[in-house]
Amino acid sequence: MTPIEQIKQHIEKATSANGLTENESAVLTTPFAVHQAELSVSLSGESVSLPAYRVQFNNARGPYKGGIRFHQDAHLHEVEALAAAMAVKCAVLDIPLGGAKGGVQFNPKMASKVELEQISRSYAEAMSDVFGVDHDIPAPDVYTNPQIMSWMLDAYEKKVGRSEPGMITGKPLALGGSHGRDTATAQGGVYLLQEYLTLHGDGSVNTVAIQGFGNAGANAAKLLHELGFTIVAVSDSSGTLYAPQGLDPYAIERGKKDTGSVAGTYQSVDGDAARGIEQDGVEILPPDAVLTLSCDILIPAALDNVITDKNANAVQASLILELANNPITPEADRILTQKGVTVLPDVLANAGGVVVSYFEWVQNRQHHYWELFEVQSRLKDKISNAFVHLHDVAREHQMTYRDAAYLVGVGRIAEAMHLRGCFDG
Ligand code: NAD
Repeated sequence: MTPIEQIKQHIEKATSANGLTENESAVLTTPFAVHQAELSVSLSGESVSLPAYRVQFNNARGPYKGGIRFHQDAHLHEVEALAAAMAVKCAVLDIPLGGAKGGVQFNPKMASKVELEQISRSYAEAMSDVFGVDHDIPAPDVYTNPQIMSWMLDAYEKKVGRSEPGMITGKPLALGGSHGRDTATAQGGVYLLQEYLTLHGDGSVNTVAIQGFGNAGANAAKLLHELGFTIVAVSDSSGTLYAPQGLDPYAIERGKKDTGSVAGTYQSVDGDAARGIEQDGVEILPPDAVLTLSCDILIPAALDNVITDKNANAVQASLILELANNPITPEADRILTQKGVTVLPDVLANAGGVVVSYFEWVQNRQHHYWELFEVQSRLKDKISNAFVHLHDVAREHQMTYRDAAYLVGVGRIAEAMHLRGCFDG
């Protein structure tokens, strides 16, 4: 099943639970617009043409919103699935935005800084007609960051000939970014975890394994470490670090910065001293090992479809916080539910990023900027309100949090479509 088929299955389940017709369901599972371009750029010193996409899935509740992914697997089906999930996510969090996603299909690790800038500018220019503060507002995603948002803002503003900082979010503070945006995805997930454990925890839930050590994963590791959780494993594409007595995420962050990988923290590079494996009680395992290690909470924070019917039975965690988008296939979801594993789904668990992106957009429009504590307190309220509502819906209908989230999100989008008359005729 492709990523978009998986998301459509979730949406269709929710449309039937919401009592919508087949035609209405078809409208809700079809993107409103798909924009494609070929970017003629230089990569690894050669002239190449890179496929680039922007899928605008649904804007019934407000302007399109969604990140831009730079990845060799960012093909149209993947971008379309991520765009659909964005529409549902914004509706679940009840923010007045629709759903979109963008992607450029290439391996960003092969690109120099100059080439990345050229690709970023070229993408923003190619999509300048579809972006806009009142129309479609992109943001960072996998392998894109505030510097890339800055190049895109600059290229867009030069093309349209006006200042329009609210056309993109995830910008650095100096260009109109928001306090708290850099850690927002992880922070939102951590607020959600705390809400969940307040209702269900008995104080024994403590150990955490995290797949991915980028924006979402590394920040989650640091925030949870600060709160007293034990981070027993972290991974990236190079490998997994496992230490039952706990890892220091700050040391691993320095190690990854210096060597390019989490495993590099414990491997000597050019004769430099590495941290001691024995002294810290650390094992270096293959990248996917992180998913099936002994822990209470598993946090996938890297790529899609990493927990499948092949490894779901081996998952040992009792709780999964989906910071990544679509990390669990539908077959694996069923296996995990049967095993009694609770999944806090992506459309709620990683929504902190889009919530603070929404706050950034609001601040840009008001030309008035908030302090960090104000951003964090508003984020906490948004996540908490959404969770309490989904908890009630899940309990009332005896369904998983994912089914409850799709029921609520799709229901809100359908209501907006009805009011606009989009289902008529
Ligand atoms: P990032 O580029 O900052 O980090 C990605 C991390 O994943 C890197 O550490 C990379 O090494 C690791 N990785 C790549 N392949 C891997 C593999 N095979 N095994 C283990 N690790 C691997 O990206 P990010 O922004 O942290 O995004 C991670 C996930 O979170 C994505 O699914 C993204 O869609 C989702 N997300 C991010 C945001 C955000 O604001 N950054 C918001 C919502 C959702």
